[in-house]
Amino acid sequence: MGRVAYVNGRFARHGEAMVHIEDRGYQLSDAVYEVWALFDGRLSDAEGHFVRLERSLSELSIPMPMSRRALTLVLKEAVRRNRVREGLAYLQVSRGVAPRDHAFPKAPVAPSMVITVSAVDRAATEARAAKGVGVVTTPENRWGRCDIKTVALLPNVLAKQKARAAGAYEAWFVDELGFVTEGASSNAWIVDRDGRLRTRDTNANILRGITRRTLMEVIAEEGLALDERPFTPDDAKTAREAFITGAGSLVLPVVSVDGTPVGEGRPGPLALKLRRLYIERAKATAV
Ligand code: PMP
Repeated sequence: MGRVAYVNGRFARHGEAMVHIEDRGYQLSDAVYEVWALFDGRLSDAEGHFVRLERSLSELSIPMPMSRRALTLVLKEAVRRNRVREGLAYLQVSRGVAPRDHAFPKAPVAPSMVITVSAVDRAATEARAAKGVGVVTTPENRWGRCDIKTVALLPNVLAKQKARAAGAYEAWFVDELGFVTEGASSNAWIVDRDGRLRTRDTNANILRGITRRTLMEVIAEEGLALDERPFTPDDAKTAREAFITGAGSLVLPVVSVDGTPVGEGRPGPLALKLRRLYIERAKATAV
């Protein structure tokens, strides 16, 4: 059995799974998404991602396509059918299919829902973490509601491509005051010169990362100092350590910013420790 995708109530072969050309997600980016890391076939940080999904949908007045309980069952069934143990589950919900018009459809339409599951080579990602990754900076040019996890990701796409072209892994957006907001698909962190963990606060225009939040619980349990205070690219370049968090990256050490090494240009001990602790916790709490 090959890969399968869930599309609006049924499972289809991945290569043949389609949405309608007038799906508002496709036409207008009128859709939101969530991504769960999978550990041993189970959903990591399940609850946090559901809460954020419900909030993203509610901010856009899109109804939940089904109850959280039913959604959990469908997600788990999608994972099972794809026989993925280590990987990612992707869920997208759009406002639905309607004749193209910017304003919401007058008559209510059913939201569209798509789920795909992909395998991740954990050996390769562990090797990447052991080596660390580079980031490049790029001017913040996204809309003012980055707290909503929409599929309107063109600035993120271009930022990530800029990173790729520079041989880096991630791009960090820098706002008009010169502070890093977050990565194209991750939250940004440093361990500053005083040894304090720093990441942007959620009053800023960033996505409230679920990995970020869970890592904060780990940080509190470890009794480590945390400062939700902005930092600049220069702060990062002169920091002891830097790293990014996200369902895809987990906790991933950053070893250079715009080509300048961070610390000794190697993954920092705290970043590596937090990665280990985060993964342990994610495995223990996955459902
Ligand atoms: N910021 C952005 C812009 C993202 O796309 C992501 C990943 N979806 C994150 C942060 C990290 O969020 P999470 O930890 O919930 O995956």
